[in-house]
Formats: sequence, C-alpha cells, structure tokens
Amino acid sequence: MFQASDSKYLSDNQWYMPYNELLSAVNWEIIGYSSEERPILHTTLGAGSRSICVWAGMHGNETTGVYMLLSLIDLYTRNKIDLNDFAIHIIPVINPDAYVRFTRRNGLSIDLNRDFRAFQTIESAKLIGWIKMKAPELCFNLHDQRSIFHVNNEPAYTSFLIPSSEETRSITPLRRTLMNRLGNALSSLNVPLNGIGRYSDEFYPTAIGDYLMAQGIPNVLFESGVSVDDFERKKARIFGLNVMVALLLATEEPSTVYDQLPQNKEGLLEWVFTGVLYARMRIDIALKRVYYVNGHAQGMYYMVDEIGDLASRPRMKETNGAAMALSAPLIIGQPITAVLGSMVFEDGLIVG
Ligand SMILES: [Zn+2]
Repeated sequence: MFQASDSKYLSDNQWYMPYNELLSAVNWEIIGYSSEERPILHTTLGAGSRSICVWAGMHGNETTGVYMLLSLIDLYTRNKIDLNDFAIHIIPVINPDAYVRFTRRNGLSIDLNRDFRAFQTIESAKLIGWIKMKAPELCFNLHDQRSIFHVNNEPAYTSFLIPSSEETRSITPLRRTLMNRLGNALSSLNVPLNGIGRYSDEFYPTAIGDYLMAQGIPNVLFESGVSVDDFERKKARIFGLNVMVALLLATEEPSTVYDQLPQNKEGLLEWVFTGVLYARMRIDIALKRVYYVNGHAQGMYYMVDEIGDLASRPRMKETNGAAMALSAPLIIGQPITAVLGSMVFEDGLIVG
C-alpha cells in the first residue's frame, strides 16, 4: 500500500491548491473551457487498451479527489505505479468556476450533479461527451462528504457507492459485477474497514453516477471524509488512492465485502461543549469547522452548529463547558466568541 511518505500530495497539510498552481503542477492538455472561460484540464496516464475515466472537482469545495489524482500522476510519472494495460484519463477539476470560489455550484449557480439529464451546463456536457468518447471500462467519480456522516458513531473517512440505475434500486448484473470488483479491491488492501461506509443508493436521475449506470457505463462514487484530528482528509486521500489502484487490478469474482459495509448515517457532531450556562439554562453547544477560500486567502473558523440537549448525538470531540463564558450571542451558522479557561474563541478563531 502507498503511504503518506510516497508522495508530497499525500503528506502535505494543504487542503486547497489555487487553480493557477494546479495549472502548472502537471503538463496538462486543455480540453475545453468553463462557462466563465476557465480551462478544463486533462491528462492521460499510459497508452494501454483498458480505458479508465477519473474526474474530481465537480463540486468546487470538495478537494480531496484533486490531491488523490495529483498523487496518482506523481507516482505514475516517477514509475512507482505500473499500470501497463491501462490508459487512465483524468480531469482533475471539472468545475473550475466553483473551484476558484470554493463553492458547490458552477459559475451560473447550477449544481452540476443535478444536470445529468438536461446537460444544460457547459461543464456537464463536456464531461459526458468526454466519457462517451473514451468508452471506459470503469469510471471513478471523486467527491467529498460532509463531516456529519458516520459509521457506528465514528467519522466515515471514506464512503463508496455503486449507484442505482433506476427507481427500484435493483441489483442489475452490471451493479453486481461492480460490487464484486470493489469488494475484491477492498479485500486486497488487507486493512481494517472500520470508518468505511456505504453511501445511500437512493436513485437520483439527474446525478452523473446514476445516469451513467442507466447508460451501462460502470462507475464508482468515492466520498472522502474527515477523521478524528484529520480535517485535511489525508487519511481519505491515501486510502482513496490505494482503492483506485486496487480497483484497476481487482477481479469480478463474487465478493460480499462491499455489501457488508455499514451504510453511513448522518448526525455526527464535530466538537461538543457540555453544560454551558446560557440564558439561565445549562445547554450543550456544538461547533463545526468552516473552511473558506477568498481570493488568495485560505482559512478556517469555528461556527455554532447546534445548541440544546445534544446528549444523544455522536461527536468527535467533547469538552466540559460548565465554565465557558459566552461573550457574544450564540447564533447558528455564525462564528463563536467565548472563553473557556485558557481557550479563547474570538469570531470563530482560537486566539488564546
Ligand atoms: Zn460532491
């Protein structure tokens, strides 16, 4: 298995690479332009007969896949990966207008992953045309999931989905074959699978994965997530890279490993302060990290995520808040200002 030390893109603490840096990181070819005329980048690794398509950055604030692809390219060009039979076609960021703003939606405020029936955006039309031209035996659709997702009360650092192709979510021969292949890939890595989830297979006719399955084009959804003390999603980067490589080589022999992954659940809180005195009540406060990109500035602050009796909600971290002094009103979605002993939050930043 590849480790963090095998590539700078797996080990660094960066979680966002400005688009102009990405442009010069690899000798890309430009295969088109976004609605705001930003270049859509592309490269192919290898010249084998087995065609694979991989893309990331469909949602511009989901950057783990970009690092997975940069590390794949890095390892391949340094001859650390041998994939002779394959031609791996890569688009690192299919939605560059969203990427530069670090938002979900494209420059016209359309969610690309709800446009794979109408194909009204330049970016979704580009992506589908590219996939059909490459006639891949397998596609990887790389996304990030929110920190609310957990499996057995621990953060789901990666979730997978072999999408449905219609409303009843039937296990078609194509789906079964892909489930087997992913199951065999996971087994071949020989690592514990706690923290790995299965994403809901509810049918979304306008999402790309479901659309491709309906067209008979095999694809696997990767949803990279956080783990405890790892909000840069480095664990997901490394695991995701290893699963991609394992999936290329995996057989389609029967396997139930994918079927046995627990379905991920929503509701995980990031950081809970218990028993805080607030408006003459004792309540719990949950904080959540907000990552932002504003021009060349990148940063993170803590916002108020939930207030009330949170005893039944799983959490990544808990702190006794009985001595917490709130120096500004608590407003959901807003940065916190408060003092707890030597810990001082000011407008969402820990300053002391
Ligand atoms: Zn996404």
